[in-house]
Amino acid sequence: MISFSQAIAAVERYCVRNTAVIKPIEKSMGMVLAKDIASPINMPSYRQSSMDGYALVFGDDLSNKVVDEVQAGSSKNIPLKKGEAVRIFTGARVPDDADTIVIQEHVSKVEDSIHIEKMPPKNANIRPLGEQISKGDIALEKGTVLNEVSVAFLVGLGISKVSVYKKPKVSILVTGNELVRLGNELKEGQIFESNSVSLVLALKKLGVKNVKVHRIKDQLKSTTKAVKKCLKKSDIVLISGGISVGEYDFVKQALENNGVTEIFYKVNQRPGKPLWFGTKGNTKVFALPGNPVSSLSCFYLYVLPLIKAQLGFSNYHLERKTGVLKEDIINKTGKTLFLKGLLKDAQASVLDGQASSMLRSFAISNALLVVAENIDFIKKGEKIKYIELK
Ligand code: AMP
Ligand code: MG
Repeated sequence: MISFSQAIAAVERYCVRNTAVIKPIEKSMGMVLAKDIASPINMPSYRQSSMDGYALVFGDDLSNKVVDEVQAGSSKNIPLKKGEAVRIFTGARVPDDADTIVIQEHVSKVEDSIHIEKMPPKNANIRPLGEQISKGDIALEKGTVLNEVSVAFLVGLGISKVSVYKKPKVSILVTGNELVRLGNELKEGQIFESNSVSLVLALKKLGVKNVKVHRIKDQLKSTTKAVKKCLKKSDIVLISGGISVGEYDFVKQALENNGVTEIFYKVNQRPGKPLWFGTKGNTKVFALPGNPVSSLSCFYLYVLPLIKAQLGFSNYHLERKTGVLKEDIINKTGKTLFLKGLLKDAQASVLDGQASSMLRSFAISNALLVVAENIDFIKKGEKIKYIELK
């Protein structure tokens, strides 16, 4: 059995970026740019009015004849002389001859002329060509995580495709004779299957969609066959349950039968001790313990970092922070503990119901409190490390 830090280090050796792919911008949300993006245009691409008002030549003339009008979207370039003005609107092209825009609130209109009550400084209310970014300059750097703001910015520059790190193909294999899918009747001795639900949703949060879920009974032959199928089609295979040492736990044998190389099996941690990690070719396999808390905790601790690293994130672990403990913690297990906790104003409390079958406490917790295997006691008021769950 290896320690938590050894297990993390073993997974981290595989935490490398995937190759880059070109994606349509509208499908790039949440992904990481694999290349710097240079702006293909000046932004703005023409001298633009930033206000509704009058474009004119800066000077002492407070009375100006309004000779024409230019709306947003018009390409008209109206010639102007001193003493003349053009009615103009926000976003419209400023005539080449104009150098100042007086806002409409600062003029009074007399027939086809305006009287300027307050002359602004020269160049006022004109967005110069390329004010935001010039053609050829770097709009966004490699490593930028695309969100709704950065996507909108790129769309504004006319960029329709981006180079981002490829998403892994993930499949889930759920084992357990006792499992029943939601919508079916629960008979005595059966439980509703929920691990595939938590895993699919957690993957979705990382942007990994179209995850294929396979369900099998606890039987060596069908497990071996299902593992083979998953290996063929996936970059990452997540197996739920069947990895303990019971008579009906066939996952380890099925992985061996398929020639998956074991990197580690069993971690000195609670929950999630029977975690198995291995590889076959470029495919990574995690056999997650079946208890719902163990399965999801192992996902957060080991699977999520691997996927985020593949997606190009440089900070690929969930954030680790330090809080102040509100109660004593005793650790007689000699294992690294991940306790479902509640962090409020940096004060950490341990929730009731720590068993690995209990999703209830996990559902209301916002942190996993970390107690290292060599720590047997942490006193109230002392510092405690925690992993933030969002
Ligand atoms: P196992 O790791 O297969 O021995 O399962 C450990 C415990 O987790 C058992 O109580 C199972 O019934 C439960 N369990 C296993 N798989 C799931 C699942 N997909 N959803 C909910 N509970 C499960
Ligand atoms: Mg089982």
